[in-house]
Amino acid sequence: MVKPGEKVAVAVSGGKDSLSLLHLLAGKAEELGIEIVGILVDEGIRGYREVKLEAARRYADKLNVELVVNSFKGIFGFTLDEAVQALLLDGFRYKPCTVCGVLRRYALNQIALDLGVDKLATAHNLDDEVQAFLLNALQSNLSVAAREGPLSEKVHMKLVPRIKPFYFVPEKEVMIYALLNGIESPFVECPYIVYSLRHVLRKWLNQTASNNNPSLKHRIMFLKTKLTKHFTRQTEFKTCKICGMPSSRDTCKACEFKNYVTSLLERDKLF
Ligand SMILES: [Zn+2]
Repeated sequence: MVKPGEKVAVAVSGGKDSLSLLHLLAGKAEELGIEIVGILVDEGIRGYREVKLEAARRYADKLNVELVVNSFKGIFGFTLDEAVQALLLDGFRYKPCTVCGVLRRYALNQIALDLGVDKLATAHNLDDEVQAFLLNALQSNLSVAAREGPLSEKVHMKLVPRIKPFYFVPEKEVMIYALLNGIESPFVECPYIVYSLRHVLRKWLNQTASNNNPSLKHRIMFLKTKLTKHFTRQTEFKTCKICGMPSSRDTCKACEFKNYVTSLLERDKLF
């Protein structure tokens, strides 16, 4: 996933998974000959983000890793809390997690690009990948569902290649790794989790897997891997005509959401 001499940005949220990844890569940096920097996106979720941000800062300090922070407010002009308020007043055409997911992904790439890193490492584990695959598959979005494997190629000048070292590691095992290494994260949940279909799927997967189906998640991952081989070459990247960033269409999803939320905020005078 990495070559000697590369600079790797680790996407940190302050949760156990991302702190474990920071721990792992910081510990292996010298052996692998890589340089590590942590990056964090402050979405602006009151009661949640400030707690996790503090945990991330503390742990990065402990590991002696620089942590670069930018926010939705800084990049898009509004916090997620402001966006959700506007979305709510407009009848929730988009769910908070849908908007947050697109904007966070965009922001992480933007920060990584600004830092001039070679790779962007995220802590997505097997459970995350299986959930994402099923979510996309349920929306008949099979090419998106199967698009990303543990290592993405350089497909656009402005898209930092991603690596996912925990791709094949179940969530439970990452948790055990965190426990064994004394990695702690305050137990606060994002308040918008109640609107998330992923949350429902996660519970269903865990329940079904523990109910005499221990290989369920691995089997779904196997299906995804088979499909990925089929779909990878069909993904074509364009350039967003508004921001110049990679996009599968003429205007990227982040610009679309940014404009939509901004227009709602201006209309409802929520700024
Ligand atoms: Zn754009």
